[in-house]
Amino acid sequence: MEFSTLAVLGSQWGDEGKGKITDYLAEQFDLVVRYQGGPNAGHTVVVGQETFKLHHLPSGILHPGKKCVLGDGMVLDPVTLQAELTGLEQKGVIPEHLFISTRAHLIMPYHQKLDELEEERRRVEKLGTTMRGIGPAYTDKYARQGLRCGDLLGSERALQKKLQQILDTKNELFTRLYDSRPYSLADLEEAYLPAARGLKPYFTETALLIHRELQEGSRVLFEGAQGCMLDIDHGTYPYVTSSNPTAGGICIGAGVAPRVIGPVLGVAKAYTTRVGGGPFPTEISDATGDRIRQVGKEFGTTTGRPRRIGWLDGVALRHAVRLNGVQFLALTLFDVLTGLERIKIATAYRVGEQQITHFPPSLETLEQCQPVYLDFSGWEEDLTQVKSYSHLPPNARRYIEGIEETSGVPVGLVSVGPRRDQTIVIHDVFK
Ligand code: GDP
Repeated sequence: MEFSTLAVLGSQWGDEGKGKITDYLAEQFDLVVRYQGGPNAGHTVVVGQETFKLHHLPSGILHPGKKCVLGDGMVLDPVTLQAELTGLEQKGVIPEHLFISTRAHLIMPYHQKLDELEEERRRVEKLGTTMRGIGPAYTDKYARQGLRCGDLLGSERALQKKLQQILDTKNELFTRLYDSRPYSLADLEEAYLPAARGLKPYFTETALLIHRELQEGSRVLFEGAQGCMLDIDHGTYPYVTSSNPTAGGICIGAGVAPRVIGPVLGVAKAYTTRVGGGPFPTEISDATGDRIRQVGKEFGTTTGRPRRIGWLDGVALRHAVRLNGVQFLALTLFDVLTGLERIKIATAYRVGEQQITHFPPSLETLEQCQPVYLDFSGWEEDLTQVKSYSHLPPNARRYIEGIEETSGVPVGLVSVGPRRDQTIVIHDVFK
């Protein structure tokens, strides 16, 4: 049986504009599914005059009638999620068809505290965590001492017993290692557990829902959060997120078989950004970087932190193309490059006397990598109203061709502004 799915994944270090691309494509789908991460995702989506900032919720939520799934592999913060839902309702968006996996883990208040305390202890090399408790929540999941949404559906007595047991262990850490105050059940009862209980109507066995929908011919879009280079296994470890945004993560995090995964659309900015620490070979530390940061409004949606700016890294992009089986690229923030005299793409790295064309697994090697650049002439024309490839300035088209040659895959979409109608279609990525 043929399934109709598309995966929209970040091909860089996150913040690629996946929210806008998913929102643009969501019209063609029945379900939009998130499968990993938590409220560290920060999609900004512009619809008409309204700007929506989404953290847990997939961008499909902005399309009436679409089913939105927060899948098994996610970690959820009930307080933030409730605030997100209320914020949407205030703007007239009613989440009628939201489904939250009973298998998804809950981020507890002590996870956020642990995030802070652990980052503080890393005196020299900070990871740059978003302090949302996501890392500690995943740690507890793998230590098999997490709380899952489904735990709220059982008896109150069983829940309290389980929580007390977890708190007893956690409090040892807080009081003995961190010299911090312990947590009590009453603390959790203040705001946290009421918010979590309020989500109960949305709890479902989402993997089963997705399976049934696919059997009935529904079209499913899998929406990645963060990006390939932040993947816990395949990214720039330890400067990574705690989950697998790469295509393999879909099977685990949504609970679907590999044969269900269809074409993969890799979203990439026309340049590179990253937040947090770690080596960044194509980083631009001069006025050009500042200009791109200002024009592209490169400040984190979740944290407000200024993002580090670099030229497009073709080596990292090929890594993403290979790992995810990217068939098409969606280039975003293309308009931001207008007015630059020269634009560069790194096609390889030089390490000492050697030239390498693959992304090295070791950060020590990455630190020594000097990018080998292809150099392009820029353009002066405003691109934000351009509707077709043929109307792009010749130098912009040459740059796109350079990206295709470097990455080895065609560019399907070019985004020239945050709105849905600021999208140039070169190839129909999903028929
Ligand atoms: P995401 O988490 O991958 O969705 O990325 P973010 O939401 O953090 O960053 C994308 C930002 O760029 C948002 O503010 C979008 O509204 C904006 N954006 C998306 N595509 C474009 C584009 O093509 N041009 C411009 N100028 N802004 C864009």
